[in-house]
Amino acid sequence: MKIKGILLLFFLVLISCQKDQNGVVDVHPEFEVYVQRFKDEANKRGKQIDFADTGLSIQFRDAVDTETGGVCRGNYQIEIEKFHWDDLTDLQREGLIFHELGHCELGRGHRNDTLPNGEWASRMRGDPVPDGMSVVINYTGTRREYYIDELFDEGTSMPDWATLSANFDQFTPEEKEIVLYLEEAEEFEENMRITLASNFEIDFEIDPRQSESWVGVRWGGREVDNELFVIFTAAKRFFITSGQAVFGSMREVENFSAIQSGFNRITVRKVADKYFVFVNKEFAYWFDYKNWNSNTVKSHVSGSTKPLYRNFTVSLLPPQG
Ligand SMILES: [Zn+2]
Repeated sequence: MKIKGILLLFFLVLISCQKDQNGVVDVHPEFEVYVQRFKDEANKRGKQIDFADTGLSIQFRDAVDTETGGVCRGNYQIEIEKFHWDDLTDLQREGLIFHELGHCELGRGHRNDTLPNGEWASRMRGDPVPDGMSVVINYTGTRREYYIDELFDEGTSMPDWATLSANFDQFTPEEKEIVLYLEEAEEFEENMRITLASNFEIDFEIDPRQSESWVGVRWGGREVDNELFVIFTAAKRFFITSGQAVFGSMREVENFSAIQSGFNRITVRKVADKYFVFVNKEFAYWFDYKNWNSNTVKSHVSGSTKPLYRNFTVSLLPPQG
């Protein structure tokens, strides 16, 4: 009986092994580049990953049932939602595949704690997402390295960028050279008259007037796909995003305490390779700078009632930060 039992166990193990990919790698061509990057990033961190032993299947599916747009079904079978995928930037696609491989290959579960600045601590954030938290991860520039380190090693220490801040009074009024000024406007589109390499500041006050409509500023591009946006609602939702040709979404806060009723002062400052964003002179966020596609700066108006802008100013800042 004992031997039979062991044999049975042996067969069961054999059967459950056969249920996985049997070493077959069947990855849809759209995902191959990200699987290769995963292997490369593992390699840089001293880990050899080769799916020849485990197999790997990554395919598209139509159904929508998770917030993150993909799922690891276990046994190295990953399904990605086509509609979701089509909307993502290259780095967001990488992040999604890395998340799913985090489940399948690295045995990671979801990790939903945050860094000191409120950003997710891990690329493995996921369902159930705490109430009032956005799923947005800024997976660009400096941040990307940390998220990949953390993916492969959950013990990775807190990154410096999670406590990086800026002082609103870093520059005196005398140091700022005003190149564009609008005393009052409901809607506008202007040339900023600055060069790519300039340090500069966009500073204005805005009253959204309507509670749910998004208002704010867009710059650096000509169309939605290549512009940067800092926008908010009177209901205290705050969003920093860009088109697919730039970074994608970077920061979303559901109930941002810095936002007041009536006029709010928004300041976007580019210094060297970073952007710093302030709300009512309070530091709100920083992100890596990326060259833009045009000198255009314009209002962002999504509702039927236009917001009111006042003291809209673009200034050149001294070259050294
Ligand atoms: Zn997940």
